Amino acid sequence: MILRGRLNGIQRNRLKGLLNMLYTPRELADEIGIQINQVYSAYVSLGCPLERDERGHIFINGKVFYEWYLQTYPKLRLAEDETFCKTCKCGVKIHQPKRKKKGGLVYVLSVCPDCGRGLTKILEYER
Ligand SMILES: [Zn+2]
Repeated sequence: MILRGRLNGIQRNRLKGLLNMLYTPRELADEIGIQINQVYSAYVSLGCPLERDERGHIFINGKVFYEWYLQTYPKLRLAEDETFCKTCKCGVKIHQPKRKKKGGLVYVLSVCPDCGRGLTKILEYER
């Protein structure tokens, strides 16, 4: 299953800085460095814990959100014949691999079978 709203490493790091307090979706998006509509289209629609005031405005607790995120988006474990596609935001099968070597770095180039993006997977670092 492809989950929308997976954060990159920098954004995930910023999650750790969220406080045990209520954020508006705008504030939360600014803290993490994402577009505000990602808060609604991904997290709210996936059922992230939130509070509403009497006028229906949404507030999200930073710490609770962080824990919810970690449970909802577990770290990917890729199989040996899989690589991560940043466009599809999921692991995909390595398709027509080209094995390369450069300065001790062994990696394989492939093309995402779903979207056609060129992908690189580092296999090993030889000394
Ligand atoms: Zn793809």
